[in-house]
Amino acid sequence: MDTDILSRSIVVFSKSYLPIGRVNIKRAIILLITEKAEPLEIESASQPIHIRSPNTTLAVPQHIRLTVAHKERRWRVPAVSRREILRRDKHACQYCGSTKKLTIDHVMPRSRGGTHTWDNVVTACERCNSRKGDRTPQEAGMLMRTKPKAPPHPAVSFADDFWRSHHKKQVEEQLVGEEVAES
Ligand SMILES: [Zn+2]
Repeated sequence: MDTDILSRSIVVFSKSYLPIGRVNIKRAIILLITEKAEPLEIESASQPIHIRSPNTTLAVPQHIRLTVAHKERRWRVPAVSRREILRRDKHACQYCGSTKKLTIDHVMPRSRGGTHTWDNVVTACERCNSRKGDRTPQEAGMLMRTKPKAPPHPAVSFADDFWRSHHKKQVEEQLVGEEVAES
């Protein structure tokens, strides 16, 4: 069996059709065989992944939907920490987009009563942080790429990313189709 194929992952949808995460192919097969999940076809979804063993070929869909309600793990908004702030901001300065020499900036500086809370902390590179100094972004004339807030539930951010990339793929496919039509 192709080990490369086995390392690929399948997108899992909840019973109510929300994309909730990924599982590896082995796990997906187990879910399908035990009827805890069913194949899910979504628009423009790519072909099933064919797994060949000496005796059989198995077609694993790229998306499956749970047929049983899944138990959601308890999740709480994480405490404000450097690690979680960097993760929320995708390891990029929220002023210039740099991914190097990252620090934590308090939007309203702490020296002026700014709090160490999710809505007042952002990732900033050293350069932007020192340029901003003891000022607010407005005072420093600096634009923020996002409005800081607490990180969303992991399932929510997964669904966001999934639909965003799905939409992007659809647009790309459309472009490819147009190119073919033109030639
Ligand atoms: Zn920066």
